Amino acid sequence: MVLKMAVPNKGRLNERTVELLQKSGLDLGEDWGRRLYIKVRDKDIEVVFVRAQDIPVFVRSGAVDMGITGQDQVADADVELTEMLLLGFGHCRLSVAVPEESEVRSAEDIPDGSRIATSFAGAAGRYFASIGKKVEIVNVTGAAEIMPYMGVSDYIVDLVSSGSTLKTNRLREVATILTSQAVAVGNPESLKVKGEEMWDIIHAMKSVIDAESKKYLMADVPADRMDDIEKLFPGMAGPTVMNIAGRDDMVAIHVVIDASDVYDDINRLKKLGAKGILTLPIDRLVP
Ligand code: AMP
Repeated sequence: MVLKMAVPNKGRLNERTVELLQKSGLDLGEDWGRRLYIKVRDKDIEVVFVRAQDIPVFVRSGAVDMGITGQDQVADADVELTEMLLLGFGHCRLSVAVPEESEVRSAEDIPDGSRIATSFAGAAGRYFASIGKKVEIVNVTGAAEIMPYMGVSDYIVDLVSSGSTLKTNRLREVATILTSQAVAVGNPESLKVKGEEMWDIIHAMKSVIDAESKKYLMADVPADRMDDIEKLFPGMAGPTVMNIAGRDDMVAIHVVIDASDVYDDINRLKKLGAKGILTLPIDRLVP
């Protein structure tokens, strides 16, 4: 049974999504950048490249079994999907912003009848309704930041990550509607029939994400310092310890450590008399 998956064809989520799939072992071939449809080599998996915005609806309708998009898009489409894995990139928030000189300090200050430009009409409309505001949503497909300046709207709802785009356009954030990152979502019906294959992809991606934050460390250490060495790596199952041919005074250790600990761990190992310290990247980490 063929499994269909939708991924963003361009924009901020595209590159990292493709990288994750490839590192997970899905061979998309050479020309994935130019094609909108790809059959994964040697697997019953088809990947379609479409707009991040369209993916929630395609997954919900069953046109594809699963997809990768932003949580903001899922919230905006307001469709029932199974969130399978948060992917840890594409972080942003959907915010209400007002012109710098505005008196408005919070969403509550926004007067009824205000016009709000956004490409997130669903999420914005529901948000203002939830705080009891009767606003007019002006649906735009992009460049919402310019709309107050053009007189098309009074305020905007748009995605923010660093806030520099808002600043450049002399806008000020007054409320956060939601926070978002890239997410893998599944069609609940597909999960009933193709669940195993779908979760295989998710577990593969998770193993890649987990491996990226780890390093494999190898070192030769004095055999009589093993107590101290074990204390140095308490989190993991502990180092694998191997004999070195012809040497009784030293043993070899192999251990998985946090990438952020590499600097400190190497310094500590050196102080304990370790030699020949190597760290290596890890492709996959499957517990
Ligand atoms: P695209 O329109 O294809 O560039 O995809 C936009 C998606 O990228 C959004 O729906 C978000 O999930 C994500 N994203 C992450 N950071 C930002 C940002 N600062 N501005 C816009 N989109 C962002």
